[in-house]
Amino acid sequence: MNIQPKTRGFICTTAHPEGCASQVQRQIDYVTSKPAIQGPRNVLVVGASTGYGLASRIVSSFGAGANTVGVYFDKAAEGVRTASAGWYNSAAFEKAAAEAGRKSYSIVGDAFSDEIKTKTIDLIRTELGQIDLVIYSVASPRRVHPKTGEVFSSVIKPLGGTYSNKTVNFHSGEVSTATIEPATEDELRQTIAVMGGEDWQMWIDELQSAGVLAEGATTVAYSYIGPEITHAVYREGTIGAAKNDLEATAKRLNAGLATNGGRAFVSVNKALVTQSSSAIPVVPLYISALYKVMKEQGIHEGCIEQMYRLFAERLYGEGETLVDEKGLIRVDDWEMRPEIQAEVAKLWAELTTENVYELSDLVGYRREFFQLFGFETDGIDYEADTNPDVAISNLR
Ligand code: NAD
Repeated sequence: MNIQPKTRGFICTTAHPEGCASQVQRQIDYVTSKPAIQGPRNVLVVGASTGYGLASRIVSSFGAGANTVGVYFDKAAEGVRTASAGWYNSAAFEKAAAEAGRKSYSIVGDAFSDEIKTKTIDLIRTELGQIDLVIYSVASPRRVHPKTGEVFSSVIKPLGGTYSNKTVNFHSGEVSTATIEPATEDELRQTIAVMGGEDWQMWIDELQSAGVLAEGATTVAYSYIGPEITHAVYREGTIGAAKNDLEATAKRLNAGLATNGGRAFVSVNKALVTQSSSAIPVVPLYISALYKVMKEQGIHEGCIEQMYRLFAERLYGEGETLVDEKGLIRVDDWEMRPEIQAEVAKLWAELTTENVYELSDLVGYRREFFQLFGFETDGIDYEADTNPDVAISNLR
């Protein structure tokens, strides 16, 4: 079939298998062009099919030569529907890993459920014995609690007061004002249940009690802080409260794992175009301005560059892992440089519909958004007849 992008707001309902494969290969090529990492041997990535989780899996496999298990929630093609981008990414990853002689396994299903945790543990026990790194990179709008069955939905809202700021429709370039009403107590509770640390803790507890977590194992989850302009809607809003919970979980996990020489960290990563970040109001316009400034300064990074730096320089670099005063790994350090933020703030004050293409990298933002789904990728013939049915080789 002929596969073209079909968008609804910040969602693209189609994905292109060859474009996704090409995006995965580009990330693999980047990692293999860099020095090898003396890192983990067997890695579990929960939320492994797109964004930061996929990049973590690629760095583990192609940077450190590790075997990997990826857990993710993606759909195969069905009838006239293409598979989701994460499905095609994972199919391409598995194929490349096999060709490179690394073991890799995929488990598709709800990471929040007991069933998927048990299935993953059984797989690790049979195929790998133990794992020495667990990356937790799930970003989800909802969670069914495995013990109570309660369904939680996360919201991106401020706390305490109404928040208004500039936002952009990244398809049309229209800059307008987004006004978001504050969250209720219950919305806050539910967002923490979805995006906080409870599920990460459950994974580590269950891996540990099943005896499949190696002595001295490391675990890492991802967070974001960002600039003053997004604080009310992000860091000081519902998602920020969930991230506070995640960071508190890291401290608890670290205390437990340290008794065996293990470690738990939260890594604060850079704002990047992913399926999750494109859903947050204000953030796409901030990212467009940030990309312009960081590209001009020659310090722009994508998911793969961020994750390579996290592994090579922080987690498995020389000496102790560098953390800030709160114990957080900061690979958002280049984004947060005062001179970068001052430049972004200057652009932010001036941004309007009329000048958005001149003052921000909205063109780059849109292109990266479509590339998440395998579109707008060089070397792909989008007019060609393409088979949407792609198998994942080591699907369990
Ligand atoms: P993403 O949407 O690209 O990836 C989310 C992953 O979670 C996918 O692999 C998806 O399949 C998986 N997933 C979702 N629900 C699942 C479920 N129920 N069971 C199993 N897998 C499930 O997101 P991302 O932007 O890479 O975010 C990953 C983490 O990085 C999040 O914690 C996010 O807050 C953090 N982060 C993101 C940014 C950013 O700008 N994108 C910046 C800093 C930190």
